[in-house]
Amino acid sequence: NFKFPSSEKAYKIVLAGDAAVGKSSFLLRLCKNEFRGNTSATLGVDFQMKTLIVDGEPTMLQLWDTAGQERFRSIAKSYFRRADGVLLLYDVTCEKSFINVREWVDMIEDVSLGEIPIMLVGNKADLRKQATEEGLKCISTNFGEKLAMSYSALFCETSAKDGSNIIEAVLHLAREVRKRC
Ligand code: GDP
Repeated sequence: NFKFPSSEKAYKIVLAGDAAVGKSSFLLRLCKNEFRGNTSATLGVDFQMKTLIVDGEPTMLQLWDTAGQERFRSIAKSYFRRADGVLLLYDVTCEKSFINVREWVDMIEDVSLGEIPIMLVGNKADLRKQATEEGLKCISTNFGEKLAMSYSALFCETSAKDGSNIIEAVLHLAREVRKRC
């Protein structure tokens, strides 16, 4: 009993976050249900379409993968300007990527026209236990939640590797985006 989306509208969701936090892997898991141990760096910007049932309505999403490298920031900015929502990723095993969340939020708020829903995503949750045992300083769920709250952002932890919470993260953000558009 499939209904086509009621309009041609596709909501634009932009993925943000430092290089190597797992943006391309997140999209690959969401759209193809695949994981690759070694993904090549995204060059510039790339997008994928995905239709999800949000609150009973087929909802088309256009998901933009932006490269995290500094030299592509200016390109990324123009995508944030037109975004309906942002998935802002950090790597729970990489403190630097968590610290840099602030810069990303500042940049997003700077370029976007209105207030834009952000889903803060702590990715690579599958690695945290082992990384902690190996003495790496990891970001706790509690820290992630608190940071999200301080930006009035949504929050979840995911693994592109085992697939946990990937769809949930996007659904939750899409629900928020639909409410506001
Ligand atoms: P991007 O630069 O943000 O697009 O990051 P990539 O998607 O290219 O991922 C960088 C590296 O982290 C790759 O080697 C991925 O296989 C790996 N990776 C991405 N997500 C996960 C995850 O959830 N768990 C684990 N264990 N590795 C991941």
